[in-house]
Amino acid sequence: MTIIELCTTFASDELCRELLERLRWPNGPVCPRCIASNPARLANSTKLFYCKECDYQFTVTANTIFHDSHLPLIKWLTATYLICESRKGMSANQIKRTLGISYKTAWYLCHRIRAAMASAEKGMLDGIVEMDETYVGGKYRGKNGQKNRLVNKEIVIGIKQRGGELRFFKAENVKSGTLARYIKEDVSQDVEVVMTDEHTSYPGAIKQSGIKGLRHETVNHFAGDYAHGDITTNGIESAFSLLKRGIVGSWHKVSAKHLPAYLEEMTFRFNRRNSKTLFLETLQHMITADPLTFEKLTA
Ligand SMILES: [Zn+2]
Repeated sequence: MTIIELCTTFASDELCRELLERLRWPNGPVCPRCIASNPARLANSTKLFYCKECDYQFTVTANTIFHDSHLPLIKWLTATYLICESRKGMSANQIKRTLGISYKTAWYLCHRIRAAMASAEKGMLDGIVEMDETYVGGKYRGKNGQKNRLVNKEIVIGIKQRGGELRFFKAENVKSGTLARYIKEDVSQDVEVVMTDEHTSYPGAIKQSGIKGLRHETVNHFAGDYAHGDITTNGIESAFSLLKRGIVGSWHKVSAKHLPAYLEEMTFRFNRRNSKTLFLETLQHMITADPLTFEKLTA
């Protein structure tokens, strides 16, 4: 679908609502408060439903990520479309200009779309898994003009199944215990092999992960050794370079506080890069995810 088709297919608020109603309630409307399955559509309204079981009036967007928004639905749909279509993401400033809305509205809108993406269920990684760490944001700064890459930078741990899905995490440190936790939570017990660089934390992390008989292969980057045979971390490294292009080229500046949300957006889109239904799938998560209030987001 092109952006022209999007805007002609969903030319009115009613048409946007019809789509959201189909996605939220594939088997007919359900009351969001008491889950009764036969709310009535109010005759004098195009959007209101009434549940007589619990005496509650609602619309399709009640108690979802759209909750309490005054933005026209076509703007929601267009922002979702643009974020899904841009491989490196799109800044709130660009969304502001493209949709003709305020920066604050655009910023809040983008974060709600990200929160919906983050609500998608994730499976365990399997087969051949590559794991690596990188540093994003901040500035190179150090004593006596020496560059210290750790100053003001955030640590991102990446895990990628070869030919499969990608996970990014904002980590406090790269100690064995921290890395072990991500392996435990995201890598299947049946994984074949984990490939990493020669960072000294990995052997301990593999051991602490508790996965029996887990094979660990390493690539020694310091010796200029980027791949021998099948053993490489090139997959996770190219995912990191996409993330960095997103941060530098699209988002410009990402606060440490909101970094996890950008990581969720990037991996959600990356893992569905060949999907023909990415836009609809994203909307499906938006119309089923819990509301995210501005107060909670900025707390
Ligand atoms: Zn009800």
